[in-house]
Amino acid sequence: MPEHTATGAFFTEPPGRLFLHVSPSPRACPGDDPLDLVSPDIGGLIVSDDDGVHASAYLEQVADDGAFTGPIIYDPAVYAREIARPDEQPALFALSREMRAASIRLQPARRHAQVSLTPTRYLYPEPYRCLHNAAHAAAEIAAPDIVFAVPVDHTWLDSPHYRELITVLVDTPGPKALILGDDDDPLEKLDRAQHLREIVTSVPGLALLRTGLAGLDALVHGAEFASIGVSAATRRTPPPGLSSTGPRSGPPEVLVPDLMHYVDGQRFSTMLSQTSQVPRCRCPECARGSIEFGERGRPVTTFTEAADEQIAHRHNYWLIEEWHATLMRGTESTKRQDRWRRLCAEALGNHIPINARRHPHSEPLEAPSSLKFWAAG
Ligand SMILES: [Zn+2]
Repeated sequence: MPEHTATGAFFTEPPGRLFLHVSPSPRACPGDDPLDLVSPDIGGLIVSDDDGVHASAYLEQVADDGAFTGPIIYDPAVYAREIARPDEQPALFALSREMRAASIRLQPARRHAQVSLTPTRYLYPEPYRCLHNAAHAAAEIAAPDIVFAVPVDHTWLDSPHYRELITVLVDTPGPKALILGDDDDPLEKLDRAQHLREIVTSVPGLALLRTGLAGLDALVHGAEFASIGVSAATRRTPPPGLSSTGPRSGPPEVLVPDLMHYVDGQRFSTMLSQTSQVPRCRCPECARGSIEFGERGRPVTTFTEAADEQIAHRHNYWLIEEWHATLMRGTESTKRQDRWRRLCAEALGNHIPINARRHPHSEPLEAPSSLKFWAAG
């Protein structure tokens, strides 16, 4: 059994850790995930138990393997299955009989996680009492190895709710981890990306979990730590009752480095099917196909099959880690933010020539609203 870390040091040294976020499925084994790409010095692993069953076995395998030496956070992910109700006191730990049974089964998993998230239920803005109850319960159980999970529906990012969220989180002691719920991109509206930035910069000790590139934006603007999903299922958090977290078959989502944009591999390939000028990647994962693809690297249009999923996950995470390491270099936060803004502005601009080369029958690839906001500063 690994020693528990001194949690205070874990959360502050170094600041700005980036965690790989996984949610094991029945057939998952740690060897399928790019754990070897996670730096134990500036990264870590978060294991979410979205279905209440499989994280335990996964964590046992990670522990048995012994190769992963970075910090591990266990997330019971109750928010994936249950919605907070105002008539329950406290909302935070009021588990159903099924959940109690699941949590007993999960006890072995808990041993291997150095830190756990609270089993907070999914929080809608109405009524505010649900968030207040959860924050109150979190304050009561404050412990060095517990982080208050704050799984909020994306509508919390709208006015005036996000201001209430800031007030409650500022008043709640200890580390907090914000999780944005949405069936799709929670930042598809420009002002939501802006309000999220305001939340991150206003709440000390805040983490942002289960994101894509929003995790990097949060880190360069002072978030304590962040996590980026290995797959679309852990980059998004649908409200309980919506099924999009289920296993996904078909082409993987692949991160296009020039565009800083996750795209459907098949759609991207079809879109650029009439040009040879396609974005290429020379990351170590893509370089493994160098005999086939040549020195210029693998075309990002070649991730078209379900069988490409594992290599796409490795490619995606390698890029993220590379950006993370570059962005967090040095200590001056204004320089980090400048680097991030320039990176995003360049990626936003690159959408224009890519779209100009697209197949005439294909839809243009619209840059995400969040990227537009980040590029503007
Ligand atoms: Zn690559």
